[in-house]
Amino acid sequence: MTQYLFDHVRGYGVLYAPERDLRPIALAPPELATAESGSGEATSLEAADPFAPGAEQETPSEVWAVRPPESARDSADWRLRVVPNRYPIVTSAESVESAGAGCETESTPSDTVWGRHEVVIECRNGTGDLADFSDDELGLVVEAWRGRLATFAQDSSLRWASLFRNAGLLAGASLPHPHSQLIGLSFVPPAVQSTRRAAGVYRAEHGRCHLCDEIEAAGERLVDTNGLWSAWCPVVSRVAGEIRIAPNRHEAFFHHIDDGDVAAFAAFLGRQLRRVRQLFSRDGTGGRAGHPSDLAYNITLNEAPFPRDSDAVDRGAIDHWSLEILPRTGGIAGFELGSQLWVNPLLPEVAAQRLRVVG
Ligand SMILES: [Zn+2]
Repeated sequence: MTQYLFDHVRGYGVLYAPERDLRPIALAPPELATAESGSGEATSLEAADPFAPGAEQETPSEVWAVRPPESARDSADWRLRVVPNRYPIVTSAESVESAGAGCETESTPSDTVWGRHEVVIECRNGTGDLADFSDDELGLVVEAWRGRLATFAQDSSLRWASLFRNAGLLAGASLPHPHSQLIGLSFVPPAVQSTRRAAGVYRAEHGRCHLCDEIEAAGERLVDTNGLWSAWCPVVSRVAGEIRIAPNRHEAFFHHIDDGDVAAFAAFLGRQLRRVRQLFSRDGTGGRAGHPSDLAYNITLNEAPFPRDSDAVDRGAIDHWSLEILPRTGGIAGFELGSQLWVNPLLPEVAAQRLRVVG
């Protein structure tokens, strides 16, 4: 039986189709080295890692780093680096000005947009995953996310920022070296605006924040919770094992996490990442046989637009940050593209129960 649910705040629908879970997965994604070199030479990938220690000249100069006190900028003895993306989705206001006109036509007017696109190189090792990190190592990553988002928030040319992580080919990663990305934009994406409008409608109707209510209503979909944060499977989960994490306290910005709470959040996040990976592991802990143990997944942060003087919306009432972990066991296919619906084989109550067990 297929159930259809629509998220009125976020504006997307999901079809829960348990039968889909039974289909065999015969198409394994090719090894990244083979895909990139075409010749299967694994060594060429290692040599080509632009994020490796010693290859600092392959990236633009770092804007943030964790390194010993005496260590020089862009030298090789770092633990974590943040660098501008060499192939950015958006470029700075200055470079947009000097580039001149874009692809605007009479029938398709375009706006000039700009921003910042940075890469957090999360560790020295060219392989592995956040789920393998120690709490200490994960703390450095969370600290970098928080620090860069705080810097973006102070940049008056930016209106909103995205923090995301693509792990594995199915999640859109192009390099195996563990990294996450930050993009600051000169405009607020329409989807973020419409979500906030819907959150405002919910607030007007219920007198409460939709996310505060969502946490309270998690019930059997709750995966983990402590005094500060909760992790749960959303009622409208787009993919199997989707986890949403949010502060129990109504708080608009991830980068407002207190200094003293960074380590605790890193530990909480690490626990959820290990649950998700185990859920899909081959060892029979509840996942589907045949899935790779190195699970592909995305992390996305949902944060409000940065407060600006021109902002007339009652921010305090509706803005509550959340971070999502989205396991990626299949691609976005034709039906999803044509219908704008997600197809999920696993009900969130079942996913949460399995995730709790493997934690
Ligand atoms: Zn709230």
